[in-house]
Amino acid sequence: RSKRRGRGQITVYSSEIAQEMRRSTQLEQALRNAIISDNVDVHFQPIVNLADGRVKGFEALARWIDPDLGFVSPAVFVPLAEERGFIDMLSETLLRKAAEATLAWPRDLFLSFNLSSAQLMDPRTTYNTLSILNSVGFDPRRLELEITETAVMTSADTAARIINELRELGIRISLDDFGTGQSSLGRLRDFTFDKVKIDRAFVSAIMTDRTSEHIIKAIVTMCEGLDLAVVAEGIETVAEAKKLRDLGCGMGQGYHFGKPMDQAATLRYLHDHYHEFAMLDRERLGATAPGVTPEA
Ligand code: C2E
Ligand code: MG
Ligand code: MG
Ligand code: MG
Repeated sequence: RSKRRGRGQITVYSSEIAQEMRRSTQLEQALRNAIISDNVDVHFQPIVNLADGRVKGFEALARWIDPDLGFVSPAVFVPLAEERGFIDMLSETLLRKAAEATLAWPRDLFLSFNLSSAQLMDPRTTYNTLSILNSVGFDPRRLELEITETAVMTSADTAARIINELRELGIRISLDDFGTGQSSLGRLRDFTFDKVKIDRAFVSAIMTDRTSEHIIKAIVTMCEGLDLAVVAEGIETVAEAKKLRDLGCGMGQGYHFGKPMDQAATLRYLHDHYHEFAMLDRERLGATAPGVTPEA
C-alpha cells in the first residue's frame, strides 16, 4: 500500500471489512436459524480396515445447504459458530443426530465425531456429551471424538482434564489431521489418545513423494510403539490403499471407500458392504436365502 494512495486504500479497505462483517453476520443468522429449524444435517463417511476392507465405523460430518446461500462448507460454518459463541448448540444438535442415526447400525461399528477446539477448552463438554448420549441411549464405548493437535496445545491443562474425563467414560480420543498442527512430538506425552488420523496431505502425496512415505512410515512405527490405532485420511485410489496397508497402516478413510453419505445412503452402504448386517436384514424380512421369496 503506497502512501500516495493511502487514504483511498483505507476507505476501500474499511468498506470491505464492513461488507465482510455484514456477510458473516448474515451467515451467522442463517446458521442459527438452520440449527433451530433442524436444517443442519449430518452425513457419514466409512472408515475401513485396510487389511480386509471391512467397515469399522463412520465419521460424522456436518452438512448445511441454505436455500439462499447454497452449500456452505463446515470448514466455514464450524469456525463461525466457534467465533460467535454457539458452537456448543451446533455441536450438541449434530451429536444427537449422529448418535440417533448410529442406533440403526450394527452394534460393533463406532461413531467418530469431530469435537471443536472451543469445546476442548470448555469444562462443561464432558457433562454435555454424556447427557446427550444418555438421552439417546448411546453406549459411550461406541464413540470416538476427533480432536486436533492445535486444540490440544492451545489450552493444554483444560484439554488434558477433559480428555481424561471423556476416556474414563469409555469414549476414545483420536487425533485428527495428524502431522499438520504446530505441536512438538514431545508434548504428546502429556496426553492420552487412542487413535491417530494421518492427514490427507501426506496420503495424497504418497505415490509420488518419498518424503511423505517416510513420514507415514515414521508415524505408523511411533503409533505401534505407543499402542495407538492409525487411520489414513483421504484415500482416493486403490493404489494408495494398498501402499498404506503395506506400510502397516491399520485403517483407511476416503473417497475410494465411500464419500460422506446421508443417513439413508449410509444404511444402503451397510447393506452392500457389511455382510452380517445384510444377513440379519434378510432374516428379518423372512427370506431364507438370497432369491427365495417368503410366502405371504
Ligand atoms: P476433517 O475432520 O479432517 O474431515 C475430513 C474431511 O475430508 C471432510 O471434509 C471429508 O469430506 C473430506 N474427505 C474425506 N475423504 C476425502 C478424500 O478422499 N478426498 C478429499 N479431497 N476429501 C476427503 P468436510 O466434510 O468438508 O469437513 C471439513 C472439516 O470441517 C472437517 O475436517 C472438520 O474439521 C470440520 N467438521 C466437519 N463436520 C464437523 C462437525 O460436525 N463438528 C466439528 N467441530 N467440525 C466438523
Ligand atoms: Mg475429522
Ligand atoms: Mg481429518
Ligand atoms: Mg483433515
